[in-house]
Amino acid sequence: MFNLVLFGPPGSGKGTQSNSIIDKYKLIHISTGDILRSEVNNETPLGLEAKKYMDQGMLVPDEVVIGMISSKLDENPQVNGFIFDGFPRTVAQAEALDNLLDFKNNPINLVLSLQVSEEELKKRLISRGEVSGRSDDTEAVIVNRIKEYHAKTAPVAEYYKTTEKLIEVKGEGEVDQVFGLISAQIDSLIEA
Ligand code: ADP
Repeated sequence: MFNLVLFGPPGSGKGTQSNSIIDKYKLIHISTGDILRSEVNNETPLGLEAKKYMDQGMLVPDEVVIGMISSKLDENPQVNGFIFDGFPRTVAQAEALDNLLDFKNNPINLVLSLQVSEEELKKRLISRGEVSGRSDDTEAVIVNRIKEYHAKTAPVAEYYKTTEKLIEVKGEGEVDQVFGLISAQIDSLIEA
């Protein structure tokens, strides 16, 4: 089994790269952002609660997302592995994920951290907002999402550095070029 965390700030290309990774490596994609948006669209109690945070660019409380991940892992017992996209976003989430995976004897194999400059991130998020229809892709909310990233999510990189699982990848340039860098890292572990 191969478990990959795709890490990076909002707009760093995690969703786009995840699609290429799942195609090539047949991993199960777990995007907490996608799961939350589907709960919001279906107006479930979880969705209604989460929406309050998402619309302001704030992180949804840890218990809520950790519970979601736990059920996703249980729903997919026999798989090649998982790609975690947009999760873990806090150190508490990272610890909870390690516990859940330890329990299954399938730890995280690799954390790829996409490096994109702040200027480029803002540009990408604003232009995505013009086409995505996502209610959190407006300038004021984007500023909050980036603030949340620095305050709560950036420390997750430090957490993984201590386990020597984190590798930084340049996230600027053509999508295919970035995917080439990502694939090279995955291949070097799979073939090892
Ligand atoms: P992006 O990476 O572009 O910010 P996501 O789709 O990953 O977008 O997340 C959108 C919103 O969903 C976040 O701003 C946050 O409110 C919520 N969210 C997604 N994943 C998590 C998570 N792991 N923990 C807390 N909140 C989350």
